[in-house]
This record gives sequence, C-alpha cells and structure tokens, in this order.
Amino acid sequence: MINLSNPSAIEPEIRQRVQQHLVFVIHSHTCLKRDQENANRISSGQPPRHPPCHLEHCDTFKQLLRHMFECRLGPICSTKYCSSSRKIMKHWKECRDVECVVCAPIRAAQT
Ligand SMILES: [Zn+2]
Ligand SMILES: [Zn+2]
Ligand SMILES: [Zn+2]
Repeated sequence: MINLSNPSAIEPEIRQRVQQHLVFVIHSHTCLKRDQENANRISSGQPPRHPPCHLEHCDTFKQLLRHMFECRLGPICSTKYCSSSRKIMKHWKECRDVECVVCAPIRAAQT
C-alpha cells in the first residue's frame, strides 16, 4: 500500500501512478458536477451547458466516485481503487506542502 505521509520517499514510478490517479479523480469530480448541471438543464427544457466529455477512463472514474460517495466501508473496502483513491484525495485535500512531489506539479498544471 502507498504511504502518502512522506511523498518524497515514494518511488518515482509509483508517484507517477498516484499523480495520474489523482488527476483523473479531480477531473471526474468536476465532470460529475457538469453532468448533473446538464441533466438539470435538460430536465427543465434548456440546452446543456457543458459539452459531453470524451476523456478516456472518465466514465470508469465517475463510477468509482459514485461508489465512493456511498461506500461506508472506508479503508477496508475491497472495491478496486476505492480505498486508494480515498487516501490520495485525503492527501491532496490536506497537503499544505507547496513543494510536495506529488501535489505541486498537479497544482501547477491546474492554474
Ligand atoms: Zn470527464
Ligand atoms: Zn468502497
Ligand atoms: Zn502533497
């Protein structure tokens, strides 16, 4: 299991996987909100505000996020990526290290 309390100790290969994972989770989170907004508009007879997302793996991650919203098992859940995503998201939300080897490049890419 990955340990995110000391990101600079993570092997570069694994770090890269964690970053990719994080980028997808962040995207899918935004994407889910857009889908919801579109659905609301369509149901009130308006055109959708956001173009459909064609990003590879996005649907997979959206499914995962939907699962995570409802999952009550937390760390012991055996659903693929559930507990690891939780860990990664928790780190991302709580990380205050501006030079964090995991978060800093993603923050830089987002702005
Ligand atoms: Zn998407
Ligand atoms: Zn779960
Ligand atoms: Zn970090």
